[in-house]
Amino acid sequence: MSFRYLYGPVPSRRLGRSLGVSPIPPKTCNFSCVYCQLGRTTNMTNQRQEFFNLQDILEEFKAYIKSGVSQFDFVTIVGEGEPLLYSRIGELIKSIKAYVDKPVAVITNGALLCEEKVREELNESDLVMPTLDAYDQITFKKINRPHKSISFDSYVDGLISFSKNFKGKIWMEFMMIKGLNDDEESLRKIKEIFNRISYDRLYINLPMRPPAEDWVTVPEKEKIELAQNILGGISLDFLEEEDFYSSIEDDLEAILSIIKRHPMNQHEIESFLDQRKCENKNEIFEKLEKDENVEKVQYFGLNVYRLTSVRR
Ligand code: SF4
Repeated sequence: MSFRYLYGPVPSRRLGRSLGVSPIPPKTCNFSCVYCQLGRTTNMTNQRQEFFNLQDILEEFKAYIKSGVSQFDFVTIVGEGEPLLYSRIGELIKSIKAYVDKPVAVITNGALLCEEKVREELNESDLVMPTLDAYDQITFKKINRPHKSISFDSYVDGLISFSKNFKGKIWMEFMMIKGLNDDEESLRKIKEIFNRISYDRLYINLPMRPPAEDWVTVPEKEKIELAQNILGGISLDFLEEEDFYSSIEDDLEAILSIIKRHPMNQHEIESFLDQRKCENKNEIFEKLEKDENVEKVQYFGLNVYRLTSVRR
């Protein structure tokens, strides 16, 4: 059985094993971040829509759970773009929580939190993970390249308003990029903004998977330590802790369903295939190499595989 909206569980250093729900079509976002691991945004929009029928997503979710997937710590709503663009996200969260006894997390860029209705829709979730990488309109445009209707001030106001009233946990994320936001002055300005937001944790992320722009790179170690000191955040490193999983029987299709949202390096694919007792690993790699929808990128000395086009 193949699944359209569900994937994983995939390993996450923050969430353990995360079962992904994607209610957003590929690369549909109101940002086009220079570090995005999905590539550049091809459908730039700030218009919320029911991109996929809610009942179809929920039916697939139930079928996925019935197929025996139970080893996961979080259900994570994380589109192939920005999940808050899904206009029925509140109902989606409520229905998932009514069906499984697991916490629901939403990974978002946070831009739509300036809308009261969106903030209310997130009330049923247990954890929201918004991003803040910039400290003013100029750095916002350089790093996140937002939709033209989004201003930095309204974005920050939305994060602050949301953080004041949300009853669940908020884990902020900060993507640190060499030469863009890794110097002391930038970090101190970002810290001033973080001080206005109430959150439970702050993660410092690094662009460890192939980014949308190939000039994006990881800051030096001393800069990362400086960021930890100034921001007081937790820094994530490259290695994932747990294994990938897919309920799709066919090994190749299972890998394709994961790399659609989450690029995998050669070692991750190998251990995924080992775990499934795959006896023709070389053949799978050959098929990946030949598939014109699969891009192989060299990054940090590893071959990383990601899907480049819509393959449903
Ligand atoms: S990183 Fe997230 S917010 Fe940025 S372009 Fe990619 S999907 Fe959109």
